[in-house]
Amino acid sequence: MSGVRSAVGKPFVLIVEDEPSIVELVVYTLQQAGCESVVAGTVAQAWECLLRRPPNLILLDWMLPDHPGLVFLSRMRSDREFSDIPVMLLTAKSTEEDKVAGLDQGADDYVTKPFSPRELSARVKALLRRKTPEHGGAPLIAGALSLNPASCTVTLAGEKLEMGHAEYRLLKFLLANPERVFSRGQLLDRVWGDHVDIEERTVDVHVLRLRKALKDAEHLIRTVRSVGYMLSVKS
Ligand code: CA
Repeated sequence: MSGVRSAVGKPFVLIVEDEPSIVELVVYTLQQAGCESVVAGTVAQAWECLLRRPPNLILLDWMLPDHPGLVFLSRMRSDREFSDIPVMLLTAKSTEEDKVAGLDQGADDYVTKPFSPRELSARVKALLRRKTPEHGGAPLIAGALSLNPASCTVTLAGEKLEMGHAEYRLLKFLLANPERVFSRGQLLDRVWGDHVDIEERTVDVHVLRLRKALKDAEHLIRTVRSVGYMLSVKS
């Protein structure tokens, strides 16, 4: 799990695949596409990886040594915490019926083996753009507040707001996932990545600073008692 630090830095991809030559190709392709990745060779390992750090995208092989990839997919989709992580099937099964079955189970896209690195890269980027706006480059907006990932700037009604890097990343994550409550632990995992040395109350400190930086838009960051925080535009 080395090199998997900032969750709002590079997109983080979980590769579930048991064939070494394909793993090698996929890891290389993702690296070229600007993604970080971790590899699991079985459904059991994949589940451990998922719990340790939820990825931005999962590439899932169909035929795995312990269970079919679809077992993992349906287990994931029925778990509220992981149900909306985008999944792309990597499959040698090329019949129309199998593709339909995969998409029925909640896969967002699929590539059929053998695939070219260029095709895989393009499909991964397209899926990330569609499913995880914080990696898409488009401005994230809530009311008069706007965050521009390309220029790393935040404006409120056109006026530029100054904030620290941690507050910026926290805001970016919350803007990309509005109206959803996150616990302090989830925010640590998703915004700060694998840092075990950061305490949960540190999140409170950054939320406090973020609210101050947001000036008249501070009410967008809500405290949900005994749960955590959310960004909401509803009054
Ligand atoms: Ca396989």
